[in-house]
Amino acid sequence: MAGYVGRFAPSPTGPLHAGSLVAALASWLDARAHGGQWLVRIEDVDTPRCVPGADRLILQQLADCGLQPDAPPLWQSRRGAIYQRALDALIDAGLAYPCACTRRAIEAAWAARGIAWPRHAEVPYPGTCRSGLAGTAARAWRLRTDFLRQKPGYAGVKCALDAPISGVHDNPFDPSPPCIEGSTVHWHDRRLGAQSQDVEATVGDFVLRRADGLWAYQLAVVVDDALQGVSHVVRGEDLADNTPRQILLQRALALPTPRYLHTPLVRNAAGEKLSKQTHAPALDTRDPLAALNAAATALGLQPQPSHTPLSHALAAWTGEWQRATDVHHQRS
Ligand code: GLU
Repeated sequence: MAGYVGRFAPSPTGPLHAGSLVAALASWLDARAHGGQWLVRIEDVDTPRCVPGADRLILQQLADCGLQPDAPPLWQSRRGAIYQRALDALIDAGLAYPCACTRRAIEAAWAARGIAWPRHAEVPYPGTCRSGLAGTAARAWRLRTDFLRQKPGYAGVKCALDAPISGVHDNPFDPSPPCIEGSTVHWHDRRLGAQSQDVEATVGDFVLRRADGLWAYQLAVVVDDALQGVSHVVRGEDLADNTPRQILLQRALALPTPRYLHTPLVRNAAGEKLSKQTHAPALDTRDPLAALNAAATALGLQPQPSHTPLSHALAAWTGEWQRATDVHHQRS
């Protein structure tokens, strides 16, 4: 791993809102505080949810706030062939299998075991198609989350991804790399501390390629973080419970695990997380310092007086971030 590489990876389902700016600013500050690179990746794999033009708008909003990526942005929708190579490697190694189940079939499989899930709950996959499709047509591809129990000590399948970095545990920045026992991932978040999740019990064998043919976020994010040499992921806390799936998939593909820091979520007056679903208004970047001050405050940083030039405000927060976080404990 050459050096610090961070990234902000928005899904272009609409313009940035106050909550997404918090993640953008935190990832930018962490990269600057480490003297590292900061990348922007447009995560537009879920095409039905993407809004035309939102990618350009997001890049403009970031630029208005003085957050310029150090390399041209990357669009995931153009990278299907790379994700296919990763999926093929997992299939060849017996770690991914086709699945024919609908949600209704998944619920019925649990009901047959006497377990009913609440209406809106995310239902873990019970593993129905692990042993074959029984003549039904494949819809999606899933990862076998029990692969380490099946193959203890398995170091992962090498696939032709041309990753700039290799090996599972070679992140020189990470004093406490994750540990996987069976399907339980123990990992350390720089803000949330020690975390653990049994992926098989909590989410089950998760989807890598969806029934509608679209690439699943988990596969695309893991492949791209590795291919872009990302050493540090800084993103919103709503994604923290996806991290164990990503760490398991990194192990399956023999890819390194970045360090993770999940930032506090911004809530509206009703206590809901700001998001498109809760109708968060688009970020108003006509007064970028006001927008950045709100994001900085959410991160526990000092707001800067009005009329402070953006570059000065960003430099002040970088210094504050450096003092307040674990940056100085790390080798860069
Ligand atoms: N594209 C994801 C989102 O906008 C973020 C992915 C990530 O940072 O890992 O929610």
